[in-house]
Amino acid sequence: MNTSLKSFNTFGIQANAKRITVVESVNELAGAWADAISNKQPAMILGEGSNVLFLSDFDGTVIVNRIKGIEVTEQDDAWLLHIGAGENWHQLVEKTLQRGIPGLENLALIPGCAGSAPIQNIGAYGVEIKQVCQYVDCIDLNSGQALRLDSEQCQFGYRESIFKRADYKHYAIVAVGLRLTKAWQPVLTYGSLTQLDPKTVSAQKIFDCVCEMRRSKLPDPKVNGNAGSFFKNPVIATEQAQALFAHYSNVPHYLQPDGQVKLAAGWLIDQCQLKGYRMGGAAVHRQQALVIINEDNASSEDIVALAHYIRQQVGNKFNVWLEPEVRFIGTNQEVNALEAIA
Ligand SMILES: Cc1cc2nc3c(=O)[nH]c(=O)nc-3n(C[C@H](O)[C@H](O)[C@H](O)COP(=O)(O)OP(=O)(O)OC[C@H]3O[C@@H](n4cnc5c(N)ncnc54)[C@H](O)[C@@H]3O)c2cc1C
Repeated sequence: MNTSLKSFNTFGIQANAKRITVVESVNELAGAWADAISNKQPAMILGEGSNVLFLSDFDGTVIVNRIKGIEVTEQDDAWLLHIGAGENWHQLVEKTLQRGIPGLENLALIPGCAGSAPIQNIGAYGVEIKQVCQYVDCIDLNSGQALRLDSEQCQFGYRESIFKRADYKHYAIVAVGLRLTKAWQPVLTYGSLTQLDPKTVSAQKIFDCVCEMRRSKLPDPKVNGNAGSFFKNPVIATEQAQALFAHYSNVPHYLQPDGQVKLAAGWLIDQCQLKGYRMGGAAVHRQQALVIINEDNASSEDIVALAHYIRQQVGNKFNVWLEPEVRFIGTNQEVNALEAIA
């Protein structure tokens, strides 16, 4: 049996699991989990592995979620989508546009499964999934109970949701419900999108533009393994931001509704002259400093050492301490990524 996780994580890290099981239904998923537990083995669920770093071999069962199916219900004012958690996110975006359903175009080309999208409330180019997510269907793997969380219960935040909490780690997401309004409004606040005319632009045009920007800026994991943004954009208190701006007047920043200030982690890293900086087989991407790439057979130790170095450099220069967006997986379970690089 092939138990290499290399093709199951976009970093392309070589690690093994005791067992890898691909599941296509809720029953298969629950069964695979129950099997692992009855054999006293750790288990974890994986989508497309585009937001994880395997620190070591996984001493148990990796359950790869491929629960498929897209159901569309049309209402007077919206389309309601019920999506199997194992559907590929980007293909979903394409399919909705082909059916004349706008609303997901800014989130084109984000790797991973639809069911993983609510976990860190995926976002790009001014849109987050929380704006269209109506519900998330889960099963509690300990009790087998099915439950539906509405958008509010998901407690979405910037790259956050209830599904990241320790007491929700035994919930498997099996489907996601989206509501895409017919009163569609283009979101043109970022990058080349600002050049488009809001009166005439189509969702397809935005999709094309987003794909072009992403392809030109972000490394393709098939060429250089990576997990997208390695760090979250830091959100700091107003007073800290003012102290920072007193020293550096040109820091790109975004005021948050609660008065805090979001900074661009990529810019902070770039200011430390780290683009292209390499440790072992891992390197800071040359076009986008927020991305760590597996340049040449990197080990997870190389990536952790580089992430630690970046965090120290940025922290020492700006007194802003970056936190990983990527989830770290240890021998038995997820481990605290911040502690691993601190
Ligand atoms: C090139 C690149 C660009 C990216 N760009 C963006 C971006 O613009 N915006 C953004 O927000 N993210 C981005 N990401 C990150 C990534 O695409 C998202 O986090 C994505 O939602 C991860 O999906 P996945 O299926 O690969 O999750 P995985 O990496 O497989 O899993 C992530 C975590 O969720 C858990 N999990 C997975 N499936 C389930 C389930 N069904 N039930 C319960 N737990 C589960 C896993 O155990 C793991 O802890 C990017 C990544 C890459 C490689």
